[in-house]
Order: sequence, then C-alpha cells, then structure tokens
Amino acid sequence: MTAYRAAWVCPIDGPPIRDGVVTVDAGRIVAIGDRGSGFGDQGSGIRDLGNVVLMPGLINAHIHLELSWLRGRVPPAPRFTEWVKTMFAVRGRPDAALSAEQVASIRRAISELRAAGTVAVGDISNSLAAVGPMREARLDGVVFHELLGFKERDGALVESTRGARASATVAGARVSLAPHAPYSTSPELFQAIRAEVGAFASPIMSVHLGESPEETELLASGTGPWRSMLEFIGVWRDDWRIPGCGPVEYLDRLGVIDAHTLVVHGVQLDDAALTRLAAIGATLVTCPRSNQWVGVGLPPIQRFYDSGVAVAIGTDSLASVDDLNLFSELKTMRAIAPGVPASKLLESATLTGARALGLDRELGSLTAGKRAEILAITLPGPVDDIEEYLVSGIDPSQISHLNPLNPLNPLNP
Ligand SMILES: [Zn+2]
Repeated sequence: MTAYRAAWVCPIDGPPIRDGVVTVDAGRIVAIGDRGSGFGDQGSGIRDLGNVVLMPGLINAHIHLELSWLRGRVPPAPRFTEWVKTMFAVRGRPDAALSAEQVASIRRAISELRAAGTVAVGDISNSLAAVGPMREARLDGVVFHELLGFKERDGALVESTRGARASATVAGARVSLAPHAPYSTSPELFQAIRAEVGAFASPIMSVHLGESPEETELLASGTGPWRSMLEFIGVWRDDWRIPGCGPVEYLDRLGVIDAHTLVVHGVQLDDAALTRLAAIGATLVTCPRSNQWVGVGLPPIQRFYDSGVAVAIGTDSLASVDDLNLFSELKTMRAIAPGVPASKLLESATLTGARALGLDRELGSLTAGKRAEILAITLPGPVDDIEEYLVSGIDPSQISHLNPLNPLNPLNP
C-alpha cells in the first residue's frame, strides 16, 4: 500500500482537496482524503509528491487513430465539404489496408496521447488497424468499426464485416460499430447497425451528427453541397426520402439513438435537439478544435451544458487537429464558454467520457475501488483555483502517470 501526498487532489466526483492524499494498493485506489483525515499518517509507504495535482487519467471519447498519418496533409478549410474533398483525395479508400509507415504513425499517436494524460479512447476505425497498436501500448477504450454507404439497401455490409470485428475482439479490443453520418449512411444501414449493436453485451454506438451546415441543409431540403457530392460520386438515391427535419429528429425517427449513443459534434443542433438528446440520455461528444479546422464553426458549448445533455470530449483525428492533447480542448472550451464551471469541463474530460464508453466502473474519477490510473501534474507555483488552472492549458511536460503499468489494465499481457 502506498499513500501519495500532493498539494492538490482533484477526484472529479467530489470537490478538489487541498493538501490531499490518495492511497493505492495493488493497482487500485483504496482511499482519498486530506492530510488531516489520517490516510496520510499511517507511517509506512507515504510518498510526498510535492507541488503537484493528482487527477484521473483523461478519456478521449472521439478520435480516428488510423488517420494519424494525415497529420499536416489536410489543411484547414473554410467549408466542411472542401475539407472532406481534400481528405478523400489524400486518403484514398477508407477501408484500405494501412502501410507499415501508416501503422507506425498510429503508434506515435498513442504515445502522444498517453504523454498528454489520456488513458482511454473511443476510436473510430474503418480498417481496424488501431487494434494491435492499442493493445501493444495498453491503451484502453472502445474501437468503433465505422461503416458507411448511402446506397446500402440492407444489412449485407454489417454481415460481411462481422468476421473482421470478431478477429479484432479476439485480439483484445472492445469492438462496437459506428454508422458514419446521415449524409453517408443509408437509413437501412443505420438500422442494420443499430440492430447488430443492440445484441452486444455493451451496446454502445457512435455517430457523427450535426457537424456541418451542409448536413442540416441536406436533411432539411435534400439540396446543397452534400447532394452535389453524392451525385458526383454516383451514390445519390432518388428513392431516399428527404427527411425535412433536423439531424437528431431524423435519427430519432429511424429509432437508432438511445442512452448508449455517442453523438459526435452537434455543432448545428438547436436547443430542442439538445434537449431531446438529454431526454434520451445520449452523450454529446464535442471536438472544438477540429470543428474550427474543418470549417463548421464554434460548437455552442454553453448551450450544450445548459441543455442538460451529458458532454464528453474528443480531439477527432490528426487530419483536423494539431495534436492529441485533450487539455488543449479544455482550454478551447474555456475560451468559447467562460460561463461553464471548470468542474463541469473537467468532468466531461474524465467521468462523462468513461461513462459513455462503459468504462466508469474502472476509470474517470479518483474513487475507492477504481483502477489507479492517476495523473500527477506539476504546478508552476501556488495555485488557488485548481480546477480553473487545469482548464487553462497543460503541457505534456508537466504530466506523469503515477502508475504507468497498472497490472489491472485488461490489456496488460
Ligand atoms: Zn470524427
């Protein structure tokens, strides 16, 4: 048993503790308290870490690790469809096998994630290429096998890809499914994916939704740049019934969103849609730096929190963001929404992400019984408002993992 003493402890599921102590045994958190609570005075095994704050490892709820090789190759664009065109042109077929160098870029991205304090991810994958590197690096999380096809008229694609998911599961990953987005996925494919996921022990699904104004235009009126693009690449369907509504209402009508759905982006959602997501119990995953990069504008962070919807945070891929530091997303959110309490932002980066990925029994807060995946962050001097400090931008050089080889990590060999 080891008791770690620190200038601050941020457990997330309770208020910050000044001069706190976290006691750890065999990879699990045993107790949390302040120095006066007695936990720190049990004699043996006390380690004073000095002027640091202890907090749980971060959860990046939306990333595409397989796109890491696109870093620096898809510049920011003023309009989403322009960014997508460049991305497609550089990338080629989404389900193509990755080269050795491309897989190496996944490994580098995982190292970067860990260095910036992330301990679990919601990874979106067309190729399932991240499964091996995640296991090697013992990065926890869920890999969402992403399927798309505007012309798919049944569930054949879901069936034909079942073997790939089974192999990935054998390789140690938690694998689920993700329909890509309403402008790329047919109603039939949405429903086939939903049915498949519904049979899983952990029926989590992720979907890009309400990201661009072009998407809302397509759903509302069947017109605009997405219509042109779908016609251009030859997948437009004349029998696709124009929904005439917003993105949340569209998927709600299809019966494909529920309390286990991660709705990614939501930049274009109005208050009624956000309130509906809150009522369903879905999680909204915001990626504020990516949104600006791809030309869809700033996410309405204040309205997200005002609506009562659960908010988690992702970086999205290195094709639309400079680095994979979730603390930089927190800093951006703080700048966009100065009225949201720092405690709420921190909860989004930890506990809410863990809940959305079904990992909150083990991760997301410093709570007795959970895995001791604890970050120790060096402070520059005395800090009075520790939560506000943690959303002001933290550099990886300040971060160390207290227990980098936690024996309880299910991905440990
Ligand atoms: Zn994405």
